[in-house]
Amino acid sequence: MTTESPSPLAIDTSKAHPARVYDWLLGGKDNYPIDEAVGERLPAEARDAARQNRAFMHRAAAWLAAQGIDQFLDIGTGIPTQPNLHQIVQGIVPSAKVVYTDNDPIVLRHAEALLVSSAEGVTDYVQADVRQPESIVRHARQVLDFTRPMALSLIALMHFITDEQDAHGIVRRLVDTLPPGSYLVLSHAASDLYPELAAQVTAEYAKGGIQLAFRSRAEVERFFDGLDLVPPGLVTATEWSASAADAEPEGSGIYAGVARIP
Ligand code: SAH
Repeated sequence: MTTESPSPLAIDTSKAHPARVYDWLLGGKDNYPIDEAVGERLPAEARDAARQNRAFMHRAAAWLAAQGIDQFLDIGTGIPTQPNLHQIVQGIVPSAKVVYTDNDPIVLRHAEALLVSSAEGVTDYVQADVRQPESIVRHARQVLDFTRPMALSLIALMHFITDEQDAHGIVRRLVDTLPPGSYLVLSHAASDLYPELAAQVTAEYAKGGIQLAFRSRAEVERFFDGLDLVPPGLVTATEWSASAADAEPEGSGIYAGVARIP
């Protein structure tokens, strides 16, 4: 485990944090009254969105492992919630290696739960900010083989990064380090699916001191420029690989896609 962030690693309970609000939305216990206050003010749909986003992570991770992908770089991991990505992929490919990254000290605090690997596989955790992609890749190279295909997952992360912070450029710099046959897995809150809810959620997070950058379909599609989206393409988190049996009405307001790097 490596600590990269220069910021203090103390848990700040005076200010809401994205990982903790998300944990509250999923019904978790690793959050504080200040996070709960933001969650309580959000429309009820936000809880469905978090659940459906998490379900997308499960389905995409399982699909990638079934394609034989055995290396994963997951940035914006969040507070551990069973099953975590490594549990899904190592259940299919026991030797899979997973590097987790988040910039929130609370995720570091709970990282032991992410570090319980299968005997054959490896898990690692790097405390780092996606806005420093080169530093993440430098650490990930100690565990993952960047000459072999891997999956980069940015799930419900990039809507915390504004255009001024160069969200698209950051994803490009990360993707450019991956060899052909690798995959980008990305989900992102939409500004244009439920515009009123999106505006309400953005305003409530802003009151909690968290800046959100929800994006339109065209803006999210740009993250996949030059890559080959696999079926069903860029759809919503709910729609991605939902079978007729588990189909539920779209209510996530989150775009989701998996794309192969040619
Ligand atoms: N990927 C998980 C968690 C999503 S919540 C899932 O989809 O279930 C978003 C996560 O991104 C939070 O844990 C938050 O701490 C993290 N995050 C937000 N901004 C970040 C940044 N600049 N660098 C790294 N992680 C960040």
